[in-house]
Amino acid sequence: MSSFEVTVLGASGGPIDGKTCALLVKPASLSYAEILATNDCESVVAIDAGTSLSGIGEAIMHHQRLQPKTLKDMPFSDFYLQNSPQTNLLLDFYRDSLPLKQYINVPTTTPFQELCELAPLEYAALLLRLLSCYCVTHPHLDHVAGLVINSPVFCDYGIPRKRIHGLRQTTEALQKHCFNGVIWPDLARDFLSMSVMEPEKWYPLNLHYSVLPYELAHGKTNGDKDVYTSTAFLLKDTTDSYLLVFGDCESDVHSDHPRNFAVWTGVAPLIRDGKLKSIIIECSTPSMAACINLYGHLSPDFLIQELLTLERCVRQVEPGCNQPLMGLNILIYHVKELFTSSDPRRKILSELEALNKRYNMGIVFSVAFPGVTYLL
Ligand SMILES: [Zn+2]
Ligand SMILES: [Zn+2]
Repeated sequence: MSSFEVTVLGASGGPIDGKTCALLVKPASLSYAEILATNDCESVVAIDAGTSLSGIGEAIMHHQRLQPKTLKDMPFSDFYLQNSPQTNLLLDFYRDSLPLKQYINVPTTTPFQELCELAPLEYAALLLRLLSCYCVTHPHLDHVAGLVINSPVFCDYGIPRKRIHGLRQTTEALQKHCFNGVIWPDLARDFLSMSVMEPEKWYPLNLHYSVLPYELAHGKTNGDKDVYTSTAFLLKDTTDSYLLVFGDCESDVHSDHPRNFAVWTGVAPLIRDGKLKSIIIECSTPSMAACINLYGHLSPDFLIQELLTLERCVRQVEPGCNQPLMGLNILIYHVKELFTSSDPRRKILSELEALNKRYNMGIVFSVAFPGVTYLL
């Protein structure tokens, strides 16, 4: 049974603006209408905020526009996937994209369905005011631009301060380089609180979730001298179910600072016990010749290498297991747009499927799209 309801607000790895990485996570049993009705600040977690207010507003707008046209013999979530061209804007950029449904192999839902009375942006702002908890994987602009630009919505002493959870590198960079009074007003002083986390320790987030951050390597910085740190968040709910969300990262195969292995050994027992519901991970570009610089990102061939490592880690805790990742849902996001007529998501998904088959892994891959809510 699914435990985590994940609404994708943005899923692009750039270079386009406006649709970059952002997720909302909440329990599927709780609706956004209930959250608004009870002024519930402690049930939703945002992971990254490349886009935020516009992503929520657009998702609500599409729900409102489609609802009067719903077919009686089809669940609204299916109807939504088939009939919302704006939600698959990232597909409409290309000439050979498949229908949205063909990229999605997990159940979806439409959590904004009951929000019909107010205008979309009114609802979006109300939800954003209630959202008190952000986990930020790293401070690259495609992961924080929405948090910065939307921040005037937070400037109200009547609502709880936003808690920004991240490793020290992330929280310090946001304070020093974004909310510094130059790039953007220093709202952190009154309306945000930076919650610094140490790697591989558990932290409570709200009523439903706690989180454990893992450090990741995401290319080099400072003239190639230092590793740029990103984060994978392991989210745990009150039923002891887990969701693993990666920020941008490179493969251990070609990293001077291999850090993914610690994540895989950490979650292997959870996979053995059937507690890890899903992995959300970047796959920025289709596979390329090994000599091409991936700038600290993954492509299908390197992602599969990582997942083969995960398989080995699970076999270590469950000797004799034949297909340790059989049936595991993996949601691909942070695909970088290409300036060609061919859809990079279609290519990445077909490369992953071919490798999945070649290595007989049995993984269930889906692709993340803005406006779609996945039940994981
Ligand atoms: Zn990124
Ligand atoms: Zn990045």
